[in-house]
Amino acid sequence: VAKTEERNALRFYTPKMHADARRRLKLASELRQALVRNEFHLVYQPSVEMKSGRIVAVEALIRWRHPERGLIAPDEFIPIAENLGLIRQIDQWVLENASRQLAAWDEARLPALRMAVNVSAGSFGHPDFLQGIGQALRDSGISPNRLLVELTESAILRLGEDTHRAMQTLHNLGVAVAIDDFGTGYSSLAYLKLPAVAYLKIDRSFVTGLPTNPNDVAITEAMVAIARSLELHTIAEGIETEGQHDFLLRAGCQEGQGFLYSQPLPPDEIERLLAPKATRGKRLSLVPPRRA
Ligand code: C2E
Ligand code: MG
Ligand code: MG
Ligand code: MG
Repeated sequence: VAKTEERNALRFYTPKMHADARRRLKLASELRQALVRNEFHLVYQPSVEMKSGRIVAVEALIRWRHPERGLIAPDEFIPIAENLGLIRQIDQWVLENASRQLAAWDEARLPALRMAVNVSAGSFGHPDFLQGIGQALRDSGISPNRLLVELTESAILRLGEDTHRAMQTLHNLGVAVAIDDFGTGYSSLAYLKLPAVAYLKIDRSFVTGLPTNPNDVAITEAMVAIARSLELHTIAEGIETEGQHDFLLRAGCQEGQGFLYSQPLPPDEIERLLAPKATRGKRLSLVPPRRA
């Protein structure tokens, strides 16, 4: 039986694995060109204060518009970029463009936002990373406390000893760190005590089951409690329903992101959303689904 299963498994997997590997290989060679050819762009997902529904921040999310394949999601190409050692350049491009965008919004007199950027372990641990942060801050003129570096728990696990030094330098620069995808990384909680870490992002996988799944309820409440006692600011990810919003608000979560409030949007739609007259005092309503 085992033998048959194995043969079946092989017959089932081989062509797909082969095609996947071929696609990855092609993407890898094309990824090297993508920066030069200007194929990346950023979309921005609003983050709202739960109590008021006010947009207080945005998170920059990268998109790759491939000339033949169309839009490619970061979950597919970021891991490839990490393996190729290209991630450092890509994250620096994001950092510079997101900072510049924030400065442009200031110029256009949009309400002052915080800007979050995602940073991979390969960037965070790189000796030039902190210099790159300094560069982006100087070029854009935005103050360091408006920039938030999102680092996943699994990235912290991969970084190990290097984390502390980089975190401390970042803290000295005045830039805060958010722990992204919190609760999914299997790493120790010791890093939550590092002074640079000021934000904790509750992963979507826990938010999904709210408010009915008792495990998700318990885990979410525990996360908010940890955050509160360590004086960390909590942001919940992937809020899609009113029920999730209401639960998180009552649980004491301060901020939220998700399709309930808004999809990630191109800059002009962020501007429309935040244009002073249109949104003053109003709660953000549901934005229809849109491929960004
Ligand atoms: P993340 O930082 O945890 O970002 C949240 C992801 O969840 C985004 O996917 C966002 O579009 C999606 N999302 C937001 N709200 C909802 C919701 O209500 N429901 C559902 N189902 N999804 C929601 P995206 O943009 O595809 O990004 C995926 C991941 O790729 C990010 O996860 C981040 O880890 C990584 N990434 C994105 N941009 C960059 C970047 O510039 N640099 C690096 N190093 N990584 C990036
Ligand atoms: Mg993030
Ligand atoms: Mg996340
Ligand atoms: Mg997540």
